[in-house]
Amino acid sequence: MRDFSFHAPTSLNDVYGLLNEHGEEARLISGGTGLVNMMKQDLIAVDHLVSLARLPNLNYIRWTGEGLQVGGLTTQQEMATSDVVHQNIPLLAETYSEVATVRVRNTATVGGGVAHGDPAQDPPSSLLVLDASITIASAGGERSVRLRDGWFEDYYTTAIEPGEVVVGLSVPPAPANAKTSYTKFLPRTKDDYPTVAISALGVVEGGVITDIRIGLGALNTTAVYSEAVPSVLLGKAPTMDLLREAAQGVVDEVSPTPDFRGSAEYKTDMAVVFTRRALQEVLGVEG
Ligand SMILES: Cc1cc2nc3c(=O)[nH]c(=O)nc-3n(C[C@H](O)[C@H](O)[C@H](O)COP(=O)(O)OP(=O)(O)OC[C@H]3O[C@@H](n4cnc5c(N)ncnc54)[C@H](O)[C@@H]3O)c2cc1C
Repeated sequence: MRDFSFHAPTSLNDVYGLLNEHGEEARLISGGTGLVNMMKQDLIAVDHLVSLARLPNLNYIRWTGEGLQVGGLTTQQEMATSDVVHQNIPLLAETYSEVATVRVRNTATVGGGVAHGDPAQDPPSSLLVLDASITIASAGGERSVRLRDGWFEDYYTTAIEPGEVVVGLSVPPAPANAKTSYTKFLPRTKDDYPTVAISALGVVEGGVITDIRIGLGALNTTAVYSEAVPSVLLGKAPTMDLLREAAQGVVDEVSPTPDFRGSAEYKTDMAVVFTRRALQEVLGVEG
């Protein structure tokens, strides 16, 4: 790994100053679990590492009238274990608890995870299903970005602009009576990234599906929010045949990369299988 200067500012204004001063030679670091690996492999060249770890007031989890508010420096283990998250958005606690190992989760942060943009991460598919937004701060002020509106652009690429810092995550309350599930299919070891990840939320009212959401992880160059599944299911009574038809629809929405976890065909088949099972779970249909 090449030499670099390490900066540990204690205010966001100092972060903006360092990013402005060093431009493309600077890089933010939060937990470092993603970035340091890339630096060690010389995939990223960094001359100035700007650590966010000493910034105050960016580690919190709160439930408000608008939903869950989380600071960018909150660790992924805190998301997995927080009573506030468990009680109000259990899908989020379940998903973060599936990230790697407790050692990784104790270090990796919510903001660093959202900025990392690795398509195989666990949280993105659930964050899309839950319609989460992030708050991004820069010297010019703050902006809010709904993750579904193109935040995850491509492999390790998000819509973040130079000089910006992810400072918060907001998750609106889930609809009343919603059932949710997160399936991390990993046929190798428990601490691996998913081969296929399916996040689901469903609501059945008066015998009819009134809300159904599916997030597809590790199946494209970014996590994807399914349009095909709701187009088949919304407004209909949930039956096994209908769920099979809806799950088959994800075939046209995934484009998996073949790797040591499986071929593209295998991952596509597993996407259909685990989407169907997730639909059964959240819509209460027995096979
Ligand atoms: C062995 C191992 C196994 C793992 N397995 C999994 C897994 O199974 N599932 C999973 O979901 N994750 C897994 N992870 C973690 C995941 O891949 C990322 O490393 C993690 O989410 C990044 O969080 P971080 O805080 O460490 O970010 P960092 O590594 O500090 O940063 C990641 C990227 O985001 C940028 N960045 C950091 N913070 C901010 C910010 N606040 N604003 C803007 N940009 C920022 C950095 O410049 C860098 O480009 C694993 C990690 C390791 C090391």
